Amino acid sequence: MMTPGTYLKKRRVAAGLTIIDLAAMVHTNPRWGGVDKVAWIDRIERDIAALSPDVIATLADAFRFSRTVLGQLITIRSYGEDAIDPAPRLCMTCGCSEQDACFDGHATCSWSGPDSCTACVPAPSRSFAKEN
Ligand SMILES: [Zn+2]
Ligand SMILES: [Zn+2]
Repeated sequence: MMTPGTYLKKRRVAAGLTIIDLAAMVHTNPRWGGVDKVAWIDRIERDIAALSPDVIATLADAFRFSRTVLGQLITIRSYGEDAIDPAPRLCMTCGCSEQDACFDGHATCSWSGPDSCTACVPAPSRSFAKEN
């Protein structure tokens, strides 16, 4: 299972944001400079900085992720895979889930494999080639 930090990183990337973009969007109290915010986000994504409810709320204002999934991943990280049953189903490429599916402007993604979504890995298409 992916870690909370990896999950947040995948969701940030899926939102099209660099760490620098995100640092410019989040507000910290006390006010930090851009370099400090970049370092802080990097520590969050490497599972070093703590994910307090305040931090989660700050990030949730900046890009879309499932707080439910994040909470489950935090629980799994602390107490092991068995702590959440069933474990959240995530796309290992973009981190989307049933709670926040990818949306391309027309349709939401669906599952193309056990841990991949159709936005990242297209579902195997049927071959209509004639067998001659
Ligand atoms: Zn995906
Ligand atoms: Zn998806």
